Amino acid sequence: MENYVSNLMAEVKAKNPNEVEFHQAVQEVVESLTLVMDRNPRYRKAKVLERIIEPERVIMFRVPWQDDNGEIHVNRGFRIQMNSAIGPYKGGLRFHPTVNLGILKFLAFEQVFKNALTTLPMGGGKGGSDFDPHGKSDAEVTRFCQAFMCELFRHIGPDTDVPAGDIGVGAREIGFLFGMYKRLKNEFTGVMTGKGLTWGGSVIRPEATGYGAVYFAEEMLKTRKEDLKGKTALVSGSGNVSQYTIEKLITLGAKPITVSDSTGYILDEEGISREKLSFVMDLKNVRRGRISEYADKFKGAVFTPVNPKLDHNPLWDHKAECAFPSATQNEINGKDAANLLKNGVYVVCEGANMPTNIDGVNQFLDAKILFGPGKAANAGGVATSGLEMAQNSMRIRWTREEVDARLFNIMKTIHEVCARTAEKYGTPGNYVNGANIAGFVKVADAMMDQGLV
Ligand code: NDP
Repeated sequence: MENYVSNLMAEVKAKNPNEVEFHQAVQEVVESLTLVMDRNPRYRKAKVLERIIEPERVIMFRVPWQDDNGEIHVNRGFRIQMNSAIGPYKGGLRFHPTVNLGILKFLAFEQVFKNALTTLPMGGGKGGSDFDPHGKSDAEVTRFCQAFMCELFRHIGPDTDVPAGDIGVGAREIGFLFGMYKRLKNEFTGVMTGKGLTWGGSVIRPEATGYGAVYFAEEMLKTRKEDLKGKTALVSGSGNVSQYTIEKLITLGAKPITVSDSTGYILDEEGISREKLSFVMDLKNVRRGRISEYADKFKGAVFTPVNPKLDHNPLWDHKAECAFPSATQNEINGKDAANLLKNGVYVVCEGANMPTNIDGVNQFLDAKILFGPGKAANAGGVATSGLEMAQNSMRIRWTREEVDARLFNIMKTIHEVCARTAEKYGTPGNYVNGANIAGFVKVADAMMDQGLV
């Protein structure tokens, strides 16, 4: 079996050179799946994992647009249609200067397993552009989104591929993208999720990823007869996922003490209150400013700028019980993981996608802490997107209470399935194995039923 993993990884690296994040995501899954391959040689014979690793389709395109000074820019657009075995492709769009093929393939690959775990009929996809929305005017963002959709529209549709938001794509961008799709197709359909409430969006969608991650942490804690009340939490990021993680932590009586952006982080030992969170929401969602302003506004809060010379992120070096990485991939490395463990953190729940590198994940698993991997812990966002799709198809709207109850039940089910699967394969408490195996089996069985697809 050792040979199977190393041969497969050698092939993945040779076929997808320089896509390091994609290699990392595949490696983690392949390692978990050795347990399944041992027991079910039919998957191996049918090369079903090899098929899942290869995207069904990759679309790459030119996005030309003009800034407010009349200067022309050319960005690159992508959509990875990874797997449609259990439903239409579904996954977000990311606008960030670091976006490239390898990052989007890792995200699309993760999305396949995550969507399978939600219990809803959604395949996996991801897309985006190396466009940077920071510092752009609304008019520039509008022009970019329109140019992006001018190509993307021919590849998506409510029964084909349903994009949503991710880093750099929030309510504003979804609006501009959806508006252009509607003009081009002359159709009002649920082709995107994360829409505004008056034009087809679902209540709780903005909150869903953060709320879901906190629900998942509560479920993990329940296995030790504990809850979040009174616990101190480190949270990274200050965008969509981070904001609603903090809100739900406050509601459940925990004390979030950090928040960050790409310029640095805030430590507020008094705790981030609802009032302070409202300030962060206005700062990030409306004024689009920098997180250092938090320390100017609230006494006692300390801002630490990013120091590229450090081999670790000091945000993860504070006493706490819980950590919710909610910014981006690989924000917790081996040293950060060691710092978290040293400081008493025993709940790590990933709001972001693949925020912990493989060294970090292995340390958490060895220490047997409660570690909720992103594909399970942050699945609440896409699950609620699935609920938005269902409401759009039926042309009805559920209430806040109904959607929140469904989200809570989905997170509870994902937790149960991961815990049960980990136990069944002889690694109790290992949610990484549980999530990878449960997601894989569902997609692999569907693919086998559908012939050589
Ligand atoms: P947002 O764009 O709303 O917020 C991202 C936050 O992370 C911002 O504070 C941003 O800082 C910070 N950040 C982004 N890139 C970096 C970087 N390279 N270094 C340091 N900080 C960075 O995105 P979301 O909150 O939607 O997404 C956050 C994570 O959650 C991502 O990994 C995403 O894939 C994942 N996710 C999101 C879901 C959703 O529903 N939105 C669903 C599931 C997972 P700055 O303001 O300076 O840019």
